[in-house]
Amino acid sequence: MFQGLLGELTMKTRVVAGIALFIILTSSVTAIARADDVTVLRAAGYLNVVDGTIVRPATLVIQGDRIRAVHSGAGTTAPAGATEIDLADLILAPGLIDVHTHLTYEISGDWTNRFVRETEADAALRGAKNARRTLLAGFTTIRELGAFAGGADVALMHAIERGDIIGPRIIPARQSISITGGHCDTTGFAPGVLEGRPEDGTADGVDEVLKAVRYQIKHGAKVIKICATAGVLSFEGPVGAPQYSMAELEAAVAEAHRHGVKIAAHAHGTEGIKMAIRAGIDSVEHGSLLDDEAIELLLEYDTYLVTNIYPPGVFNYDALPPLLRAKAEYVFPRREESFRRAVAAGVKMAYGTDAGVYEHGLNAQQLAVRVGLGMAPADAIRSATTGAADLLGVEDRGRIAAGLLADLIAVAGDPLADVKAFEDVRFVMKGGEIHLRP
Ligand SMILES: [Zn+2]
Repeated sequence: MFQGLLGELTMKTRVVAGIALFIILTSSVTAIARADDVTVLRAAGYLNVVDGTIVRPATLVIQGDRIRAVHSGAGTTAPAGATEIDLADLILAPGLIDVHTHLTYEISGDWTNRFVRETEADAALRGAKNARRTLLAGFTTIRELGAFAGGADVALMHAIERGDIIGPRIIPARQSISITGGHCDTTGFAPGVLEGRPEDGTADGVDEVLKAVRYQIKHGAKVIKICATAGVLSFEGPVGAPQYSMAELEAAVAEAHRHGVKIAAHAHGTEGIKMAIRAGIDSVEHGSLLDDEAIELLLEYDTYLVTNIYPPGVFNYDALPPLLRAKAEYVFPRREESFRRAVAAGVKMAYGTDAGVYEHGLNAQQLAVRVGLGMAPADAIRSATTGAADLLGVEDRGRIAAGLLADLIAVAGDPLADVKAFEDVRFVMKGGEIHLRP
């Protein structure tokens, strides 16, 4: 095919085109990591997220998709046949983890009508674009928490696993579980339009909730998301109102756990947050309106809090219909205050940005927001590494150590001194494959 293409051109353009083609075909931006490939990374240091220290200098030996050895020192000899990469003055860090994304979703254009105009295929392709952005922003694992897109997130996970497209490792929720007319149902349309079934995540009563959970897991969900309360970006009433009963929440939790799957609860309002915690949910998402008792319950049940606080200027209030805008303006400032109090109380935190509600690829910007609200830089980084890995139940990532996945990034400057270093990632390796290099 390429011969035929080149044959159409003049000799001179043929040479130029041939060189260009050679560069495209041999470009090593995405090298496939084979089991016996060895790469040695040298850098000014690496971030030990467990201790909260920078170890200088650093030499990491990568074999296949794993970190084989971690040396503190520049003089380590590379094994024979290894590819050496000198990252000069950059600091290596574990690939970041975002436990609350919506890769297949964007607030753009006619987004409120997208659900009646598009299909899962559209959502999956949008997700492919955003998966790439997210990976190149330094996030090597994400948890995709449902976005009215059927199995688009599961398809995305498979395409990335096959190497068809690049993106982070995905833990997909598939369809979120919602009461009829609730936050994770598609609301705002005439009767008969997009009426959900348990298979679509719309479920009322214990039996339907069980069916909804089982159906998502059958079709590839690796986590369950349930909408315990009303929300901001949906057309129902008070933003924080509880939506599921205790019996329904407990049934969902028991069923997810019976399958060895974690369950995340979307919860803004105080009462719904408390119900979700008492039902045994693994993480409270948003957690906007926390009172003292809710914070005590988070501590008592050892529940993760995943607060997303949008960086200044990124959230497009003008894109919202009036009801949704009013809800956003009510909730967002209160959420910051809840976060501040939860940090002071020592609640367990995992880093989830809600990317998709604003532009993808800016995921790291919430680190500085958290620090600005009283979180120590090392704790903010832990929420996006070791804390996130713990919530996800994955022990093979989230820190730099021999035997773990070679999911690594590098940044300029000391991220413990300024977490904004993560907003400009210079090097990305996932499973030993390099996707971005300086
Ligand atoms: Zn969300």
